[in-house]
Amino acid sequence: RSKSAGRSCFHVYSAELKAEADQRNVLEVELREAIWREEIDVYYQPVTELSTGRVKSVEALARWRHPIRGFIPPAEFIAVAEAGGLIVELGNQVLAKACRDATTMPGDVKVAVNLSALQFAGANLVDIVTSALAQNGLPETRLELEITESVFLADTQENLKTLQRLKALGVSIALDDFGVGYSSLSYLTAFPFDKVKIDKSFIDRIDRCETVAVLKSIVQLAKALKLSIVAEGVETSAQIARLHSLGIALGQGYFFSRPVPLADLPLQSPVPRRGRRAVA
Ligand code: C2E
Ligand code: MG
Ligand code: MG
Ligand code: MG
Repeated sequence: RSKSAGRSCFHVYSAELKAEADQRNVLEVELREAIWREEIDVYYQPVTELSTGRVKSVEALARWRHPIRGFIPPAEFIAVAEAGGLIVELGNQVLAKACRDATTMPGDVKVAVNLSALQFAGANLVDIVTSALAQNGLPETRLELEITESVFLADTQENLKTLQRLKALGVSIALDDFGVGYSSLSYLTAFPFDKVKIDKSFIDRIDRCETVAVLKSIVQLAKALKLSIVAEGVETSAQIARLHSLGIALGQGYFFSRPVPLADLPLQSPVPRRGRRAVA
């Protein structure tokens, strides 16, 4: 009896696993087609200077609107793209669109693009970045690349070289989601970052004194290393007050804006403005 119960249990389990795997495969096939048809959209979320309210940069975030299921969150499809070997092509499309869109933004606004660890490890990343900038006529200094600590799990020497070559191009580098995962402060000193983005989970609990203590030490280290600091996932004015008193100058989050299509960004586009003035 127990044997047959075990067996049927196994059947249910394996049927569920199979259904899940099938669904992932279908999603992967559909994602491949969407990438092929260049249907992945890029939305932008402002990074705001807390003291002035000025937008200093925007982060490019991939959006996939599935024909039946609607918007699928990146948390889901980026993993599918990575597993299916599609992330490099997807990442290249986002990078190219972001560089093109950035040329329509004011010249003092940077655009930040997320890089997957697999893209970072790719042999020709520096060439890909160089040609995305050149093809769209975007100055190197207006591009920022965001990487997470997962990049550093493998081959530290090789990664350091890649970072140095990217920096030599003139693009800047941000360490994303800082504070979660392996998170050691030593990454901050060992690699030439320009910016550190403090993960939303810290901002969520910024009213706790343990969190404040951790943030204080991150701020101190970042200042010593001359890194700028962004708080991610800022949702309330109370959080902004705390960030201010900690000396954190930049914030990104729903309080300021959700990620939006280029046309909805609260930015003054330099070209139409000049146009309007000329007409008037
Ligand atoms: P991330 O790079 O840390 O991007 C910030 C995420 O936090 C975005 O989620 C953004 O919508 C969300 N967020 C910002 N402010 C708030 C807030 O106030 N409240 C809440 N609840 N959420 C907020 P999104 O767009 O869903 O992207 C999730 C992750 O997917 C990104 O995290 C990034 O790791 C990855 N991703 C997105 N686009 C790309 C891409 O083009 N390439 C790669 N490799 N990864 C991407
Ligand atoms: Mg990011
Ligand atoms: Mg982040
Ligand atoms: Mg995050």
